Amino acid sequence: MTKEYDVVIIGGGPGGYVAAIRASQLGLKVAVVEKWKIGGTCLHVGCIPTKTLLRSAELYAQTKNADRYGVIAPEVGLDFSKVQSRKEEIKNHLFKGIQHLMQKGKIDVYDGKGSILESKDVLVELNNNGGEIIVSPRNILIATGSRPRTFYGLEADEKYVMTSNEALEMETLPNSIIIVGGGVIGIEWASMLVDFGTQVTVIEYADRILPTEDKDVSKEIQRLLKKKGVKIVTGAKVLSETLEKGDGVSIKAEHKGKETSFSADKLLVSVGRLPNTEGIGLEKTDIELNGIFIKTNDFYQTKEPNIYAIGDVIGGLQLAHVASHEGIIAVEHIAGQEPAPLDPTLVPKCVYCSPEVASVGLTEDEAKEKGYQVKTGKFSFRAIGKALVFGESDGFVKLVVEEGSNKLLGAHMVGPHVTDMITEVGLAQVLNTTAMDIAHTIHPHPTLAEAIGEAALAVEGKEIHA
Ligand code: FAD
Repeated sequence: MTKEYDVVIIGGGPGGYVAAIRASQLGLKVAVVEKWKIGGTCLHVGCIPTKTLLRSAELYAQTKNADRYGVIAPEVGLDFSKVQSRKEEIKNHLFKGIQHLMQKGKIDVYDGKGSILESKDVLVELNNNGGEIIVSPRNILIATGSRPRTFYGLEADEKYVMTSNEALEMETLPNSIIIVGGGVIGIEWASMLVDFGTQVTVIEYADRILPTEDKDVSKEIQRLLKKKGVKIVTGAKVLSETLEKGDGVSIKAEHKGKETSFSADKLLVSVGRLPNTEGIGLEKTDIELNGIFIKTNDFYQTKEPNIYAIGDVIGGLQLAHVASHEGIIAVEHIAGQEPAPLDPTLVPKCVYCSPEVASVGLTEDEAKEKGYQVKTGKFSFRAIGKALVFGESDGFVKLVVEEGSNKLLGAHMVGPHVTDMITEVGLAQVLNTTAMDIAHTIHPHPTLAEAIGEAALAVEGKEIHA
């Protein structure tokens, strides 16, 4: 007899496992099918391992400059194997935590590959040749995530060409690296590797790095990374067929009308991520695609009303907190509730380079394109006491506001710990507040968040410390 469930979730990343916990809280009988490791990309090859390495890199770079703080550290060294083992420890700790949460929520976890059958049951091919079982769900939630995209000719190999997956497993640091792609993942790696002492060249097709961020943010982070020694080439098309491997790698790119050669020990490809839509039985359903991604409505129902899809596999903002939020909406809908749809303009986006980047809402250009009359308020961390105390006063906070109503449309930040500061402005946007509401919010002194209050005052030209 097949086991029956209210919902079977295929994929146990931050979309799938969070949806499972919420489903269990709602009293649904739920199972997760995971072919690799619960926690998915985010925990094992994404958010957590990269941030762990970034922290070591930042600390290493800061300690080398410790004399600025009056701290004498004459011999600063790097034990990269320890850096890597710390990363593994943190991952394992969190992995155990999620496994515990699955048990606590009485969620059945099947270790195997799931696919949808014509009958709309789910076939589980158990790992380690454990055979096959079929489970019968009333609803299915597809949360199979994504994998790195590569170029033809730039596929990862054992030695020279890596995606972020292979880069995370490096046993030693390269002396030099070419990073193809100046989006979020590429820029985090650039910042980390330059802080570890690697010579970094970033080649980006668009005319600026982090091309979806506000233009002022791209300009500032480009300036700061260049100051650290990162070579950044924008408006350059990599010619993958020119890749040569031997004593390191060399590759050509079309830049300003001519071909320019680049060479380094290794090459990292970070040009986006492809949805995992293969091998999950989509062809046995009426599910439609939107380009390469699974198409859903606002509650994440596909064309088959009892099959939902969330997270990286549906495209949009490919972020862990988005996948989790979508998972919660989907299972609440399955449970008969009417959750509020996710508004992408309210999603905070973070880049954990050093200094950090964080944003929420519309950029200045997007607001203008949407027809808003726009005012901005900008405040530099140079005039913020806490930033000077930290010795990290590069960057700014910029608020984008509607002229007249003063309604907050977006916030964009570069600077120390801004990924922890963005939530204040995110909440302000959820509550539909104005820049003046933010200005009237008392920001404790000395804190980095004072820059947000000052930027709000700057909208009216009334900032205090400028
Ligand atoms: P995934 O996390 O990809 O999980 C999908 C799971 O489904 C996987 O475990 C996979 O094994 C499983 N699966 C696939 N097919 C099947 C099948 N047929 N049967 C059973 N199981 C299956 N986002 C942030 O918000 N913050 C960050 O700092 C951040 N940093 C990142 C850094 C890097 C280097 C990368 C690559 C990504 C980063 N992301 C970050 C993005 C984030 O990791 C993803 O948006 C998030 O993991 C998507 O969650 P998901 O649940 O949709 O998919």
